[in-house]
Amino acid sequence: MKVEKEKAFLRFPRQEPRYRPVEERVHDFRPVELPLSEEEIRVQAARCMDCGTPFCHGAGSGCPLGNIIPEFNEQVFYGRWKEALNILLATNCFPEFTGRVCPAPCESACVLGLILSPVTICQVELAIIERAFADGTVPSGRPSVRKDEKVAVVGSGPAGLAAAQVLNSAGYRVTVYEKDPRPGGLLRYGIPDFKLEKRVIDRRISLMERAGVRFECGIEAGRDIPFRFLLESFDGVVLAAGARQPRDLRVPGRQLGGIHFAIHYLIQQNRLVAGDHLRGEEKIDAAGKKVVVIGGGDTGADCVGTAWRQGAQSVTQLEILPEPPASRADCTPWPLWPLMRRDSSSHQEGPTVRMWSVNTLAFIGKDDRVASLRCCQVEWKPEVAGGPPVPQPVPGSEFELAADLVLLALGFVGPGSASVRDEMHLECSQYGYPLRDERHMTSVPGVFVAGDMHRGPSLVVHALADGMKAARHVADFLREGRRGQPA
Ligand SMILES: Cc1cc2nc3c(=O)[nH]c(=O)nc-3n(C[C@H](O)[C@H](O)[C@H](O)COP(=O)(O)OP(=O)(O)OC[C@H]3O[C@@H](n4cnc5c(N)ncnc54)[C@H](O)[C@@H]3O)c2cc1C
Ligand code: SF4
Repeated sequence: MKVEKEKAFLRFPRQEPRYRPVEERVHDFRPVELPLSEEEIRVQAARCMDCGTPFCHGAGSGCPLGNIIPEFNEQVFYGRWKEALNILLATNCFPEFTGRVCPAPCESACVLGLILSPVTICQVELAIIERAFADGTVPSGRPSVRKDEKVAVVGSGPAGLAAAQVLNSAGYRVTVYEKDPRPGGLLRYGIPDFKLEKRVIDRRISLMERAGVRFECGIEAGRDIPFRFLLESFDGVVLAAGARQPRDLRVPGRQLGGIHFAIHYLIQQNRLVAGDHLRGEEKIDAAGKKVVVIGGGDTGADCVGTAWRQGAQSVTQLEILPEPPASRADCTPWPLWPLMRRDSSSHQEGPTVRMWSVNTLAFIGKDDRVASLRCCQVEWKPEVAGGPPVPQPVPGSEFELAADLVLLALGFVGPGSASVRDEMHLECSQYGYPLRDERHMTSVPGVFVAGDMHRGPSLVVHALADGMKAARHVADFLREGRRGQPA
């Protein structure tokens, strides 16, 4: 098909990614999304208006990495894939992750989105990097010159991996310590395979290893190796240990069997897909069960998709907030990230019931296992004039919901383990997040912090951006020749 770039956005509509048929995909954990063809990608790239002020590429809205989107769109349209790759990798070290799981704040800031549907930036990004992997043209990041200085990275989620990649490419000797058996953080153990297949992480890790990054998995810093060792043996340390402490729901009946944190459920399923055995652990299994997921966010949606795949009898997802509007709410005008209802592919994988403005008051049990939830409708009203709205029970709205598996997906409250903070004597916020200065450095000289461990639960794209920035600050610090002192 001949595609003219001139005003292509007027002739070609946005094309959403396609999905495998529901009846097929609920029987496996393989990726649900299907890639667009090269021809389709070129048409989508042609829709980019090359507008004067591309809000998509950052500055308060748009891509947190500052991806130079109009430029790579243009190169893709002209079939110059190598040039497109160079532009993409200049700002994003792992587009194969963002191209699969990023919610694409760039697209909600796309200028075309003001009048028509935005450009499918995420798909173009994915096509560029996947083509490069297929052609074997992804640069490994092996430096031409090795420096003497050594840097330890604690945690191998996207923030730690990004920091390791940037520092290794700059010639530093990088060792990544990871407490889990395999690297990847929540990319591997949180996000289900049907959104991000783990071969994509393995492919990247082996490239990084070939480029010289050392991975020490199954090693928990602060337990298996003391932080004093890190401070004494390395010239710089990047803490990127995430924020995986789940929020609990302390209501009567919480101790009953059959109530689990969503993150434990998802980790277990990811391990099973990877072929791990559950040694002596209870399998959290939705097969034949009435499943209630408490929490209407993305983690909750991942539980919904997993439960349908395990053969749940029914799946209900509760959210205490009111139902958002179907399209961009007035309070989040373009180019802001829109407040609006989002249904994921998981919600379509069975007759998922979504309930809004619902609070859980108690769990009711039978033979020590959960049998139902006592809930009520809430209204969000300010407690005091001018104050923030708080949920208030609607009188007479109480109801009971049958459940034999409850998954708590209420977000995360902090980094969890205190060993990092205590042993290193790091100054932390009241919630336990290490504080840092404008160079990403903590209160201990030479120790930097990045990703969820500093900013709290967020997105892969933010973790990558933060890890890359932290690495550049480490490099500046080491160039200046200052050494961290043991605590
Ligand atoms: C279920 C779920 C689904 C998600 N889906 C998406 C999505 O679709 N899109 C998106 O953009 N974001 C998603 N997110 C959010 C995203 O995964 C996180 O924001 C991101 O992974 C944070 O990266 P990080 O590197 O800071 O931390 P993490 O990914 O949490 O990695 C931290 C790593 O540090 C390790 N660690 C901790 N303590 C130590 C120690 N003492 N020694 C050694 N290692 C240690 C941990 O084992 C872990 O591997 C999701 C999150 C969850 C929970
Ligand atoms: S990383 Fe996310 S926000 Fe940035 S260009 Fe890619 S899809 Fe858009």
